[in-house]
Amino acid sequence: MRKYLFAGNWKMNKTLKEVEDYFDKFLKKLSEINLSDREIMIAPPFTSLAYCQSILKDKPLKLGAQNSCWEEKGAFTGEISPKMLKELGVEYVILGHSERRHIFGETNEIIARRVEGVYKFGLIPILCVGETLEERNKGKTLEVVETQLSEGLKAIKEIKENEPVIAYEPVWAIGTGITATPEQAEEVHLFIREKLKKLYSEEIAGKIRILYGGSVTPDNIKDLMKKPNIDGVLVGGASLDPEKFFKICSIKVEKE
Ligand code: PEP
Repeated sequence: MRKYLFAGNWKMNKTLKEVEDYFDKFLKKLSEINLSDREIMIAPPFTSLAYCQSILKDKPLKLGAQNSCWEEKGAFTGEISPKMLKELGVEYVILGHSERRHIFGETNEIIARRVEGVYKFGLIPILCVGETLEERNKGKTLEVVETQLSEGLKAIKEIKENEPVIAYEPVWAIGTGITATPEQAEEVHLFIREKLKKLYSEEIAGKIRILYGGSVTPDNIKDLMKKPNIDGVLVGGASLDPEKFFKICSIKVEKE
């Protein structure tokens, strides 16, 4: 069975003081959850990683980063390397998020380099894919997802361990309050799983976790998680509130 992953993406939010307040509340609650079937991860801004590492020591909460360069060091102003992230206890790195693609112009090629660099360093890339509303309305959802997936993973020829994670995040659902229906999400997740079988093997595709992201809340999480190919969620807005995120992370998963 795939271990569920409940991941929070804080984006460019929270000062150190706010991070401290958040964990005061969240960590108290975390001890109430049975974590045997799931992992919980938070990706704070780079500026809080060192602090998070110190307070999350021995806590069952994984640390993520919101981007990474592919090189270990060098003349890459404004970038952070996988080696630096590893030193700070980071295990997961979100890559190809729609905000990186659409606001900062990251291409499939740049994202593929990031994915490769992170993977080579033993970190787990979370590769985000997803169509815009215009692409969905033109019936291009699967085509767009297929390209982003195969291009994003193209440098990873063989997977032995540390399987990458895929996050299906329809752009029209991110931060809009409009969630894909569980059926819409499952259709794409199943498509991704089939594509992964072709790229790798049935065994590897069966191990890769596929997350859904886009306006996930405590109210819609249960129905989304019922679907067989939804292995977890990537949560933006609702992960900023410790109570809401705890509710999301602690739901009982009941598959259809
Ligand atoms: C995200 O940024 O990855 C995301 C899914 O945001 P939100 O949950 O706010 O839609």
